[in-house]
Amino acid sequence: MSQTPRRPPFKVCYICGREFGSQSIAIHEPKCLEKWRIENNQLPKHLRRPEPKKPEVLTGSGSYTLADENEAAYYSAQAQLVPCRKCGRTFFPDRLPVHERCCKGGATQSFGKLDIFLHLFLHKLSFGQEFCKIVV
Ligand SMILES: [Zn+2]
Ligand SMILES: [Zn+2]
Repeated sequence: MSQTPRRPPFKVCYICGREFGSQSIAIHEPKCLEKWRIENNQLPKHLRRPEPKKPEVLTGSGSYTLADENEAAYYSAQAQLVPCRKCGRTFFPDRLPVHERCCKGGATQSFGKLDIFLHLFLHKLSFGQEFCKIVV
């Protein structure tokens, strides 16, 4: 536990959930939020979300680790996902229309173990489009 090799630190963006170097995230976050606002305004009303807030832990007293920060940021980004009205799976809002176009709905019930794994994997990456290709 004592000698963890120093890895280059990265931080998770609390808006999009992607990882950035501790320097570049400072540049990325304002841009990401701007992009988020534009995207959100273009969404149909039922898909619009409240603006993401920087998780508490990120602005706290400093008694937390980078991993805690990243976890909080990750969950914050997950909250940005919106559910498909047909199957209930969640996607980034810009991916949802792509998914809904080829979603047959209710697929979650017939998922086998491998499918669940694949589903989770694709979910994580939010590759709505690729997911459709596989399912269809
Ligand atoms: Zn971002
Ligand atoms: Zn769906």
